[in-house]
Amino acid sequence: KEVVSKNFIEQIIDKDLEEGHCSTVHTRFPPEPNGYLHIGHAKSIILNAGLAKKYGGKFNLRFDDTNPTKEKTEFVESIKADVEWLGADWEDRLFFASDYFDQMYEGAVKLIKKGKAYVCDLTPDEIREYRGTLKAPGKDSPFRSRSVEENLQLFEDMKNGKCKDGEKVLRAKIDMSSPNINMRDPILYRVARMTHHNTGDKWCIYPMYDFAHPIEDAIEGITHSICTLEFEDHRPLYDWVVKELEYENPPKQIEFAKLYLTNVITGKRYIKKLVEDGIVDGWDDPRLVSIAALKRRGFTPESIRMFVDLVGVSKSNSSVDYAMLEYCIREDLKLKKPRMMAVLDPIKLVIDNYPEGQVEYFEVANNQENPEMGSRKVPFSRELYIDREDFMEEPPKKYFRLFPGNEVRLMNAYFVKCESFVKDETGKVTEIHCTYDPATRSGSGFTERKVKGTIHWVPAEFAVKAEVRLYENIVNEEEGVRNEDGELNLNPNSLTVLKECYLEPALAEAKTYDSFQFVRNGYFCVDAKDSKEGSLVFNRIVSLKSSFKI
Ligand code: ATP
Ligand code: MG
Ligand code: MG
Repeated sequence: KEVVSKNFIEQIIDKDLEEGHCSTVHTRFPPEPNGYLHIGHAKSIILNAGLAKKYGGKFNLRFDDTNPTKEKTEFVESIKADVEWLGADWEDRLFFASDYFDQMYEGAVKLIKKGKAYVCDLTPDEIREYRGTLKAPGKDSPFRSRSVEENLQLFEDMKNGKCKDGEKVLRAKIDMSSPNINMRDPILYRVARMTHHNTGDKWCIYPMYDFAHPIEDAIEGITHSICTLEFEDHRPLYDWVVKELEYENPPKQIEFAKLYLTNVITGKRYIKKLVEDGIVDGWDDPRLVSIAALKRRGFTPESIRMFVDLVGVSKSNSSVDYAMLEYCIREDLKLKKPRMMAVLDPIKLVIDNYPEGQVEYFEVANNQENPEMGSRKVPFSRELYIDREDFMEEPPKKYFRLFPGNEVRLMNAYFVKCESFVKDETGKVTEIHCTYDPATRSGSGFTERKVKGTIHWVPAEFAVKAEVRLYENIVNEEEGVRNEDGELNLNPNSLTVLKECYLEPALAEAKTYDSFQFVRNGYFCVDAKDSKEGSLVFNRIVSLKSSFKI
């Protein structure tokens, strides 16, 4: 569906172009390389790259690596892979904020020279106390009136390692009685001896986010710096920095609401904890909504883009149902993927009147709704597997599948009638015996009798054995994400591993990330981490049915 109305960001951009505030559109995605990206980041990536594309502008990928403690090269690589996978093309515009440390330092010196920044010796506690509260104005630091010369010298000392960590900071000189606490002489630089993954030990002072970010944007010529809502009251500071540093084409910050999924763990920090506590199998555990996990589970970039489009951009925080994401992947795969027969909980079915050793082949459409996908041949013989839940010894009313005396259709094959069954000593049914009626062969035009149930099957002799993993939300949805103590309410059934599943022979050729519909069961994707040659593992991406409607 074509979305006709423009979102509020596009309206701002249109106006800026019209009024000549900018002549092109240049956006960026600025992740901190301190974890893997998740579905929320996907929204920001798709939004920023999408705007650049729509307006014929540019899109940068910039690592916001000004905070050296938590940053790792592993995360840089995973983020690049995820952004690329989502189809956001940064071309040759990959940047690292740490490459601008020199310019940031010069910017700070410029502010000092203009009398707009000073070195402050208050302790962190004192700074907090002097800052005041929402109700009470702050008061000036006793160091606020230092001369420009003294500030220049002290800032150089900070840079040259003459101060202990935390001993001095550089602060903007703005307004200690501003109603916006962010404007009460915010800290611009701190002393911290930390080795940086890019600049090593070159620096022992590091810029604060609110100072660094507008400079990064301005250096790169970003026109619209799109961020999430919690930065809204940092915008006056953003504007102050670009104004005082006298950038010619000042970038403009625009805030939008974060994407939240109801009862789903998104925050990087929380996902990290699940990984570190060993509750999940790494950042790409298919139960997570990190991009790596969604990819491994079998979601497609198309489905995620569709989801982001459906959610839209807004200025108010809200939470979206995970079912909407499921709707999008179903829609994306529906006409693209072959529909195969797979038995997840096998029980043997023997057709007593079918000649032993005989094999015949049925021509089966790969996707009944999309004839372009062609067809395949499925072998059929005397012994089959069917799903255990398609047989009942004592069926309730309205059960139309197999039970003693009942006749059903074997999908794409024949009608079979259940004659008897075998139980082991524990009472478990181990084998079902049927007879088939050759006249009912699929495609023969047989109309004399009708059956109410159709079940799927695989030929025992030719079946491919595989492992199948079924997933539920990792969070217990009845109880909500967290309990009163802030602990996660985990769902003990979030993972079900079925070790002995039987698939149609054609699935032996499946490669990692290939996905299929398993008829009556859902969409499944070959797991890229645990599948091996000859022993495939499938993840259920999503089941077939949902009450979700749009
Ligand atoms: P988290 O809170 O999950 O740790 P973050 O905001 O700390 O994420 P960054 O690496 O700083 O992670 O984020 C990069 C960009 O992604 C930022 O512009 C941020 O606003 C955006 N972003 C992060 N989370 C979401 C979300 N849930 N919805 C939309 N955009 C998001
Ligand atoms: Mg952040
Ligand atoms: Mg964060």
